[in-house]
Amino acid sequence: MKTAVFSARRYDKTMLANANQEGHELRFIEDRLTPATAVLATGCEAVCVFVNDSVDAEVLALLAAQGTRLVATRSTGYNHIDAAAAEQHGIAVVRVTDYSPHSVAEFAVGLLLAVNRKIARASVRTREGNFDLDGLMGFDLHGKTVGVIGTGKIGTIFARIMSGFGCTVVGHDKFHNPAFEALGGRYIGIDELLECSDVVSLHCPLTEETHHIVNADSLARAKRGSILVNTSRGGLVDTEATIGALKTGQLGGLAIDVYEQEASLFFQDLSSTIITDDVIQRLVSFPNVIVTGHQAFFTVEAIGQIMRTTIESITALERGEPLRDRVPRA
Ligand code: NAD
Repeated sequence: MKTAVFSARRYDKTMLANANQEGHELRFIEDRLTPATAVLATGCEAVCVFVNDSVDAEVLALLAAQGTRLVATRSTGYNHIDAAAAEQHGIAVVRVTDYSPHSVAEFAVGLLLAVNRKIARASVRTREGNFDLDGLMGFDLHGKTVGVIGTGKIGTIFARIMSGFGCTVVGHDKFHNPAFEALGGRYIGIDELLECSDVVSLHCPLTEETHHIVNADSLARAKRGSILVNTSRGGLVDTEATIGALKTGQLGGLAIDVYEQEASLFFQDLSSTIITDDVIQRLVSFPNVIVTGHQAFFTVEAIGQIMRTTIESITALERGEPLRDRVPRA
């Protein structure tokens, strides 16, 4: 099946081509999918996208007119796709629900350690021959309270790892996950979670309900000096509000792999250009902030599974079989 693969990086090309045992005709396109680039998918029944492609109503109308019947996102989250518009245009949307949740949970722990124990700063110092410890003090995680917002697959694995560190784990979710409770996790309201947690980690999807779930009000309510970790979606956090809370010391540290305005920045090398986004520039200027470019999923195991599932979905469409990973209909 002819498939246009947008936002294709070198690793996407290699890994998707390796998974493509069925011989689908893959058209790799480095650009993001936008109304201007949708034309590049002309004649492709399947379109494969990633988190910063803009699969809105306008793009879906263009794709439908060009004969697209499937949008397959190489991600779990699908907040970048207008599922209702896709349905109206008769385009099925699939995602990858089952790929190594360990990849993201382990990375969240890594970010937490990096920001708490200043590992990135220390590494920069030693490269310059500076072995001074001033400014590098962190705190023991053992005995602290970790709040997990969204206790699904990733959140529960993150909670299990933190519980192994000797932390008390509390959670907030719309649904109670027995696996979270089995490891000693206790469900509480979001306000109480913010008030009692030394570390808060976000693992819920971005929806209308969760947009800016961390905002000026919630940050004011949070335990003073606590650390916020976000490996989920940038839109969960009001970034300007975190800058305000970092300035006053209300927020003790911030570790993010996702950023609200990441679409125009992430997954590209901008080191030789002037970055005009003042918010990200302000964020990276704080000594107690660490920012990575949406790489939590980036392990051999996770990417391999993402590519295999994506190919399986395309094959299922071609054969007229049910689509296992179809996103909930709007
Ligand atoms: P999941 O569906 O297993 O878990 C999500 C949990 O969030 C569910 O338990 C759900 O009930 C809960 N939730 C939904 N609305 C909520 C609300 N209003 N308040 C509290 N909890 C709520 O998903 P997952 O596989 O654990 O993935 C979680 C998120 O991680 C994804 O939605 C995606 O945004 C993000 N993610 C990021 C990366 C990355 O590379 N940084 C990779 C994969 C996934």
